[in-house]
Amino acid sequence: MPSFAPPSKIVGVGRNYPAHAREHGQAMPTEPLLFLKPPSALIADGEPIRLPPASAHVEHEGEIGVVIGRRLCRATAAAARDAIFGVTCVNDVTARDLQQRDSQWTRAKGFDTFCPVGPRVVPVDAGFALDTLQVCCRVNGELRQQGVAAEMAFSIPALLAYISEIMTLEPGDLVATGTPAGVGRLNPGDVVEVEIPMVGVLRNPVVRGQAAAADCG
Ligand code: MG
Repeated sequence: MPSFAPPSKIVGVGRNYPAHAREHGQAMPTEPLLFLKPPSALIADGEPIRLPPASAHVEHEGEIGVVIGRRLCRATAAAARDAIFGVTCVNDVTARDLQQRDSQWTRAKGFDTFCPVGPRVVPVDAGFALDTLQVCCRVNGELRQQGVAAEMAFSIPALLAYISEIMTLEPGDLVATGTPAGVGRLNPGDVVEVEIPMVGVLRNPVVRGQAAAADCG
């Protein structure tokens, strides 16, 4: 497996599963709803998600993550499909109260530690049926979210092609493809898991408070 530099960007997709839009009482978008998460939010399997004092309500969003293998610029869906390197588990951790307060989601989605990814990237070859990818999310062992890519409003190749019309996707870039229904609050002491059967389990503890400034490195 090639090793990539950290992604130049992490592209998120909002409301890509109809059941998740319904649970928030929102209509489905007619085009993919995109946002960015900063690479500084990335953490690995086992590292703690830190709940910042600026938010009183942080939620998990278990998602299928797609890692780009080749540069994509104004690509067709077929070309985008061919440029996928692999898939991984993503937790698109979100400060729901701040998301509702802000018209842009940079703050709600962008805190340090708000993008756990892993535990590995599994390559997918051209014949792999992306629609069969399943994802689930558990908190303290209790199942909270379950979805399959076939439920997505915009398929993975369609999402990548759409994104590539706006911004060039570089090798190693990560696309978080949206979350199924069942999002919910994270509390200090919780352990949250995102699982894609062929990838494994991304497991992160949840702790209160940001790292001390002296520990930011
Ligand atoms: Mg999300």
